[in-house]
Amino acid sequence: MPHLMNTYARLPVAFTHGEGCRLYDEQGRTYLDALAGIAVNTLGHAHPRLTAALVAQAGRLLHVSNAYRILEQEALSDRLAALSGMDEVFVCNSGCEANEAAIKLARFYGHRRGIEQPAIVVMEHSFHGRTLATLSATGNYKIQVGFEPLVPGFLRVPFDDIAAIEHVAAHHPEAVAVLVEPVQGEGGVRVAHHDYLCALRRLCDQKGWLLMFDEVQCGIGRTGSWFAHQQAGIKPDVMALAKGLGSGMPIGACLAAGPAAGLFGPGNHGSTFGGNPLACTAALTTLSVIEGEDLLSRAATIGQRIRQALTEGLEGVAGVREVRGDGLMIGIELDRPAAELTKLALAEGLLINVTAECVVRLLPPLIYTAAEADELTVGLVPLIRRFLGA
Ligand SMILES: *Cc1c(COP(=O)(O)O)cnc(C)c1O
Repeated sequence: MPHLMNTYARLPVAFTHGEGCRLYDEQGRTYLDALAGIAVNTLGHAHPRLTAALVAQAGRLLHVSNAYRILEQEALSDRLAALSGMDEVFVCNSGCEANEAAIKLARFYGHRRGIEQPAIVVMEHSFHGRTLATLSATGNYKIQVGFEPLVPGFLRVPFDDIAAIEHVAAHHPEAVAVLVEPVQGEGGVRVAHHDYLCALRRLCDQKGWLLMFDEVQCGIGRTGSWFAHQQAGIKPDVMALAKGLGSGMPIGACLAAGPAAGLFGPGNHGSTFGGNPLACTAALTTLSVIEGEDLLSRAATIGQRIRQALTEGLEGVAGVREVRGDGLMIGIELDRPAAELTKLALAEGLLINVTAECVVRLLPPLIYTAAEADELTVGLVPLIRRFLGA
């Protein structure tokens, strides 16, 4: 056994290389990737433009320190601001760090307004990361148990339920912000209604709260728009990004606008590695390829194609509760725990995932072709039917 902490129930396969939407294991077996390293490999594997950009950057400069200007980081902040309409960017290395920055911003904002114990409204079934603050914000007891005492300052409400949050607004003067995933990922691919997101925007404006979107999983083109919330026609005050931003290079970002911008000054927050030239080059190249290869519209159309094939192929199958999602973020909710399906799929050369126990989750790279989408659904539908005994 390797000397690794036993933190993952890993499938018994190791990949040696990949190309496009395929991965290859030690035995030379081929797999169709419908997970993308959990929404990370936006451009699939070994994308020639990303490889070339990283090789060139690695030959110039990997890391300097945020004690100096970093041109690639400045360029990335400009690009993200232009795509999102946000004002400022803090660059970090992961999703939990992006959320930590958001949580710190909200508390800082609260203190500025004279609220000494500021609280952030968070959702049931949410996932925000594994650090102490982000696991405390997470709406999943399994992720918290054993790590108490939790970080205080979170108020929990049901997801996609505006009445519940209005109730909190009426009774909690210490609330200063809402943190929500426009599409919950780990929680089972649950898409918030656009009406709900718009109502949240209005409530935050009324109360002077920060509207903070965790788009770590649903952002960067996955739902067919640069950011999932853009489909509701609104803008948050804070947004967390990571996963797909670097297409495999670790990078995260916390974006701020309006009342959340201009809060932090030197010394309030930082990161040794955050925003190094190599990671920023990965992100800049990812964004440029998404635009150049028109991957937003592809995510929308291929996602629609997959959902439609699944809906038709699984129609009337007892045990299938719902096929849902947005773009290339797709969930198939079953009536029973489905972890076993990842093993059955692996044996068939398909890489899928199961989350929230009963939800088969598909997060393909944004470069999926119609042929790859069909290969996925033609393989997956009979597997699910067989698994359910249908
Ligand atoms: C994965 C995820 C995180 C945590 O990101 P890490 O990079 O693992 O720290 C936070 N929020 C959401 C919505 C995620 O999907």
